[in-house]
Amino acid sequence: MRTDMHNTKYRLLALVPIDTQDGIDPMSAITAAAALAARFDTSVEALVLGADPGDASAAEAARCGAGKVWLCAHPALGNGAQSDQLVAAFAQALSRLDLAGQSAHDDTRHLVLLPAGALGEEVAARLACRFNGVALGHCADMFLHADGIRAVRASHGGRARLELTSANATWFATMRGPKTTAGATPLAAADIVRIELGESLPPPCPLSHVDMSDNKMRLEGARIIVSGGRGMAGGTGFSLLDELADCLGAAVGGSLPAVDAGWVPVSCQVGQSGRYVAPEIYVAVGISGTPQHMAGIDPGTRIVAINADPEADIFNFAEIGIVGDWPVVLPALIQRLRRT
Ligand code: FAD
Repeated sequence: MRTDMHNTKYRLLALVPIDTQDGIDPMSAITAAAALAARFDTSVEALVLGADPGDASAAEAARCGAGKVWLCAHPALGNGAQSDQLVAAFAQALSRLDLAGQSAHDDTRHLVLLPAGALGEEVAARLACRFNGVALGHCADMFLHADGIRAVRASHGGRARLELTSANATWFATMRGPKTTAGATPLAAADIVRIELGESLPPPCPLSHVDMSDNKMRLEGARIIVSGGRGMAGGTGFSLLDELADCLGAAVGGSLPAVDAGWVPVSCQVGQSGRYVAPEIYVAVGISGTPQHMAGIDPGTRIVAINADPEADIFNFAEIGIVGDWPVVLPALIQRLRRT
């Protein structure tokens, strides 16, 4: 759908941090922006940021759909930039592009996209604060209208969708792009501008490496996950969940209260502020089924719920529901599975 944008101009900027410790796909903001640009008849500018980004980065940005590339260099950005440095460096670069000034003098609206993921969302939020813009992470789609942007966001793990609008002229957002690029742009030399960023950046936080590996199966890619919540009432319940997981070849997860209580590590938290999981089967034990927990489970996953409360919300999502106490149900289930 192409909207009537009258005289409103949209400037689409994709921020591309090429040297982070986060393992993100830096060019992904460009593919997301290029998909929007194709639908709403505009073009994409990419701000490629690194210690010394060169022609190869410009060519890659163009291949992903950027029509103009700003190569922004700061010597302090080598060796894996962290969020503090990225925020400061992007803020310097955006000020050079007159982000704040331009929209104050004409009706240009700015949509600044960052790579999806925790780092991109943090940087988007902090830049929005600096430029009096609106921050929005996790966008699934966007529509550029004459009177503002409308963003679509999945909620409840994709079972519902939210539509958000804002008349603010400057948005900082993250959105996953298509897997394939919209089409390479042939870049002329004039379309590549080099910027040396001069102001100092905050020093990196000291990091120490913690080995989180254990012999347990990871949530990512698991076919079955058994997960426990506050209703497990103590760590002993989780040793039964471990046994059940062994029988099923499953990974073990938990809700936020289970993590807060120290029954499962934070790396196993499922939900809005934890992991998004997409197993074939999710066994939820002593979990009530709050929106924040369900937000972390793919809508295509089949849920088996064990809960003492027949009115628990989790039964609205479950294909199989067992009303009962876990100290009764789990040992019986494990015994039965061991016999088969
Ligand atoms: P409860 O809601 O307390 O449910 C416990 C369940 O156990 C109940 O249904 C009860 O009937 C059942 N039960 C009790 N005893 C037994 C028994 N003996 N046998 C069987 N069942 C029993 N939560 C997350 O999980 N993940 C997140 O990522 C997350 N992010 C959040 C982000 C924000 C911004 C906020 C505000 C909240 C977030 N939460 C998250 C917290 C969320 O709101 C809920 O508090 C949480 O999901 C509840 O966890 P629960 O189902 O384990 O506990």
